[in-house]
Amino acid sequence: MTWYLDRERIKGLAYAREPHRLQRVAPTRFIFEGHHSRHRLTLAGVGLVCKDCAVYWSTCILPYGGWCRHTIAAERILVANIVEVRLPAFAAQPI
Ligand SMILES: [Zn+2]
Repeated sequence: MTWYLDRERIKGLAYAREPHRLQRVAPTRFIFEGHHSRHRLTLAGVGLVCKDCAVYWSTCILPYGGWCRHTIAAERILVANIVEVRLPAFAAQPI
């Protein structure tokens, strides 16, 4: 089973180098174009949910959600495309 999940992660990282596969169709909905089919991704409270994917649901542990090659790739593509991130101001504390 471990080799299978390792292979899934490797494929996700390979997909992450192909950002054209991810298409945003609504503020919280995406389509990921896989090699064999399209996958519907939704941004939910647990992160990205790959609705049509058996691997996602086999790794899903509520309430934490699951993962698959499509969510791994989409997360990396989305993070790489964030233009601006506002972090809270940091004020040095006196010692
Ligand atoms: Zn998937």
